[in-house]
Amino acid sequence: MGETKRVLVTVMTYPQPSLRYDEIVCTAGVLEDGSLIRLYPIDYRYRPYGSWYSKYQWIEVKLRRRHKDPRPESYRPVGDIVLGEKIGTEDNWFERKRWVLRNGTSSMCDLMRRQQSEVSLGIVKPREIRDIKVEETSREWSPKHLQHMNRINLFGETKKPLEKIPYSFKYRFLCEEDECKGHTMTIIDWEVGVLYRRMRDKYEDEEVAREKVREAFLERRCGPDMDVHFFVGTVLRHNTWMVLGTFCPKKEHPRLPLWS
Ligand SMILES: [Zn+2]
Repeated sequence: MGETKRVLVTVMTYPQPSLRYDEIVCTAGVLEDGSLIRLYPIDYRYRPYGSWYSKYQWIEVKLRRRHKDPRPESYRPVGDIVLGEKIGTEDNWFERKRWVLRNGTSSMCDLMRRQQSEVSLGIVKPREIRDIKVEETSREWSPKHLQHMNRINLFGETKKPLEKIPYSFKYRFLCEEDECKGHTMTIIDWEVGVLYRRMRDKYEDEEVAREKVREAFLERRCGPDMDVHFFVGTVLRHNTWMVLGTFCPKKEHPRLPLWS
């Protein structure tokens, strides 16, 4: 049973340990009709290398509705993932925008007013991005997860241990709604964790690493000439909205006629 669908992957979150699946990554993307879909759970790092997809790559995968999960966009992949074409950033992300923004955007305030059984994924276009707030979190996974991870290692899995990032990075922004009082939402994009680790190892300094993440995710991606969008989604257990990833082509300025 299940139905094969073509998904353009747009979101991959930082892996989380899981007692049931070892570790999981939340992958989300768009279907050919522009609707959003979540593939969950995916044991990405434990899959054969040949099925490692990347962002903005089409994949073909057989999916089953996850009945335990009340979120309407959640599907469980069954069987192999067939890798397809990758979509580049030519012409200011023309091809990416064609798929990703096909059904327009939502306001964050509106998404939050609804139940996660009605909607749990969205694309929002912030009116103003105010800051990135950095908060210190725990340095270790929970004892339960640690115990489970150690057990996996005992049985000969050779994956690099999953590192806990000791900070959370949160966007503070106003959404499209006039009445918006502002949102502060954690970014769980895989790239945040990867960048933080890379910078910390390079500079051997956590403060510099935090600053580099801010620079990349605030100044570069959300600079004045960028047309920023966020992929947002809920985390099942807490029913909390988070930023799953960014979508940042440049702003398009309407071309003035040459004779004006
Ligand atoms: Zn709002």
